Amino acid sequence: MAATVREITKHTNARSDEECILLVDAESDDAARIFVELRSATEGQFHVEWLRGLSEGRARLQAGGVAAIVLDLKLRESLGAEMFDSIFQTAPAVPILMLCEADTEELARRLLRSIADDYLFKNQADGYRLKRTLRLMMERRKAEAVLLELEATSATLDSIGEAVLRTDPHGNITYLNRIAERMTGWERAEALGRPVMEVLRIIDGVTGAAVANIMEHPTQPNRPAMATHSLNCVLVRRDGLEFGIENNVTAIHDQNGAVIGAVLSFHDVSLARATSHEMSYLAQHDFLTGLPNRMLFNDRLAQAISLAARHDKRLAVMFVDLDHFKKINDSLGHSVGDKLLQSVAGRLVASVRRTDTVSRIGGDEFVVLLSQIEHGEDAAFSARKIIRVLASPHIIDNKSLDINVCVGVSTYPTDGQTAEDLMVKADTAMYEAKEHGRNTYRFFRDDMHVRLTERLSLEGDLRYALGRNEFLLHFQPKFNLATRQITGMEALIRWQHPQRGLVAPAEFVPIAEECGMMLPIGRWVLLEACRQARAWRDSGLGDVPMAVNVSGAEFGAKDFLSGVRAVLIATGVDPSNLELEVTESVLMQDAESTLITMRALKAMGVQIAIDDFGTGYSSFTYLRRFPSDALKLHQSFVHDITEDPGDATIVSAMINIGKSLKQRVVGEGVETQAQLDFLRHHDCDEGQGYFFSRPVPAEQARQLLGAGTRIGMAG
Ligand code: C2E
Ligand code: MG
Ligand code: MG
Repeated sequence: MAATVREITKHTNARSDEECILLVDAESDDAARIFVELRSATEGQFHVEWLRGLSEGRARLQAGGVAAIVLDLKLRESLGAEMFDSIFQTAPAVPILMLCEADTEELARRLLRSIADDYLFKNQADGYRLKRTLRLMMERRKAEAVLLELEATSATLDSIGEAVLRTDPHGNITYLNRIAERMTGWERAEALGRPVMEVLRIIDGVTGAAVANIMEHPTQPNRPAMATHSLNCVLVRRDGLEFGIENNVTAIHDQNGAVIGAVLSFHDVSLARATSHEMSYLAQHDFLTGLPNRMLFNDRLAQAISLAARHDKRLAVMFVDLDHFKKINDSLGHSVGDKLLQSVAGRLVASVRRTDTVSRIGGDEFVVLLSQIEHGEDAAFSARKIIRVLASPHIIDNKSLDINVCVGVSTYPTDGQTAEDLMVKADTAMYEAKEHGRNTYRFFRDDMHVRLTERLSLEGDLRYALGRNEFLLHFQPKFNLATRQITGMEALIRWQHPQRGLVAPAEFVPIAEECGMMLPIGRWVLLEACRQARAWRDSGLGDVPMAVNVSGAEFGAKDFLSGVRAVLIATGVDPSNLELEVTESVLMQDAESTLITMRALKAMGVQIAIDDFGTGYSSFTYLRRFPSDALKLHQSFVHDITEDPGDATIVSAMINIGKSLKQRVVGEGVETQAQLDFLRHHDCDEGQGYFFSRPVPAEQARQLLGAGTRIGMAG
């Protein structure tokens, strides 16, 4: 600060030993005397220059290095006031001492306020008085400059956005700026001299504990000169209001390196902290439902596991998957889908305890952490509750939507020790639950894991199977039970797996359906079957009615009808020779839209058979409305007709129902003569089964057809 003051007083680059006292006075004896007195009085400190006129004086001032001016007031009378006052304008920072006489004292006093710093009567201006007056004058100027500088510094510190506070080496406040006043609630006058910790109450934002003397660090010997505290510091204002702050403490040293105090600066980061809080909230939550996302869920699960480990407790992870959500989303639109997910989220949260966590980890996948359970039965209870709660209709945009869910459960510590392990196992159990139908839950079992791995490997291979030509068709004949003649062939897909050998459709069709592979596979089957029928016709075997199985995914697909039409045209097969087999459960899944597709197929002239009849809980109302041509009794009924009188009754009833609905009735899975006899006796139209022929490759099927095979004659 001292250096700055000097600069202000000097306004020159000259060093102090070159500074001079400027005497401006006309040639006279008095002036000569004063010059001599001045010289001896300031000897060693300044040199004295005597200039006879104002213009020379001004020029000398401009050159710099003048510490003070001694100016004869008489010059004002002889040269004019304007000329005289311009001396002051040339160097306002240089103090001026006027020399006056009795008649000019009044003027001198007036000028004192505007131009000059002091005056002396010329006849009293001896060496002692000159020296003393000049010294006082210069000291006054210096003090004024310091004050000015202080004011400027203070104004600067007030205008920055940072609160600034200074202490002496004992930690007592020596300064604080306006923002520091505002943030601490202490006015400068009150705060000065008080211990900093009294004025600046800082607590830890998380624990609420007072932060130990923050000035301590940098003011201790061997500590870094500066320390920053940014984490969670909260300033408690005098009235109790709290601000999140970030602060900086710097030690101040004297020339010898001793600490003479510290400067602390800080600013309000409440807003920034709130923003970053919001950002981290967004990063950890699902935007649609507001539930914790997978990342946060994993954190909570890991925490819950370590807590459970410490207290010897159990916990459960439940995967909740919505059935057919994609269908709802596709058919009713994303906005309905979104609202449905929100509704599900709300119900899930409401059905668990506050200490449990519900998270959405994928499109229609939710996961629930039951943080404290006593027995596995507790988790089963929750799973059943979740299924029940989600199964009741969701009213979205005045529409009532039903959804089915599957729940997979894994428990700690039985099924896994880590969050990842528990998640994988709950997921595995969920897959298993899915395979067992809607609204079911499954607990993880070890063998599931093997099956899932197996399944995943099959799924991987399935993606390449079509491209590698690994599929083929086998054909199984159907017989007219009265005439004993073949009425047609059913195409049944086989997968010639390079390592596993021939894979049956039951093993891969459900997987292909789930991973979206069934559409291209189904198209291939239809084309291949029709091509085969065409080839048989071309080889002179006549029209062979061909039955092709159609999965739910295909039947519901948008381009299904156009695909069928294209295949018929491409192969030249007459539509009446193509029979599409759709299982009863597929038809019932979405009976209304199924009806529309079936009618369109009928309009094309294609035959329709309801496959696996008896297993899909058809309502009679629908059966009457479905424009189907045949019912194929599921083999499980046929299997026991000769042993179980109950089944016998059911089969005969089903045959009667088929007849009354004007359907051809086909008995599937006929393996014995007795079964055949029963069906024939009950007027079943057709039969199919190992008793007649197993499904066989195309070449063998051709032989059966060519030989005009009749029941009892097949191999
Ligand atoms: P499905 O359409 O009901 O076919 C009858 C199944 O029963 C066939 O099994 C057949 O080999 C078997 N079977 C026939 N006679 C007997 C018998 O006397 N005893 C016993 N125990 N079984 C008999 P496969 O070929 O394994 O097919 C199983 C199911 O896979 C089929 O049931 C059908 O739903 C589906 N499927 C087969 N091929 C295709 C296809 O190309 N596309 C679609 N979407 N599904 C297919
Ligand atoms: Mg079939
Ligand atoms: Mg069947």
